[in-house]
Amino acid sequence: MAHPYHHSLSSVKKWGGCVADYQFIHDWFDASKAIIADFRHRALRHHAEGIFMAETLFGHTLTLSSGRVLPTRWVGEQHVREDLGFIPSFADWVKAIRPEPWMGRAQPLRKILDPFAGGIAA
Ligand SMILES: [Zn+2]
Repeated sequence: MAHPYHHSLSSVKKWGGCVADYQFIHDWFDASKAIIADFRHRALRHHAEGIFMAETLFGHTLTLSSGRVLPTRWVGEQHVREDLGFIPSFADWVKAIRPEPWMGRAQPLRKILDPFAGGIAA
């Protein structure tokens, strides 16, 4: 599993600049390791929507210390490709989730809002 620093070194080799120009983007992609420490953490951000989310958070372009400007998505695409070999959609991840009964469970709204109906009391 590549560390964000190593992804950043790869970015420098590809587009120039320095590690600090890229580290915050690669850190964001792998921040989900704080939630789950194995490769499954990638389900949160390592897909096409995650790459677009990075663009929303960090802007459409990235200006390197060298002055070069490049699309932020290129860095996200590089990260995901280096980890997975391709860019999956979130649907690809969802297909791998085994449904459990609690995931589809719903409480009638009447029970939640009315404590006398046997639901959650305030
Ligand atoms: Zn990663």
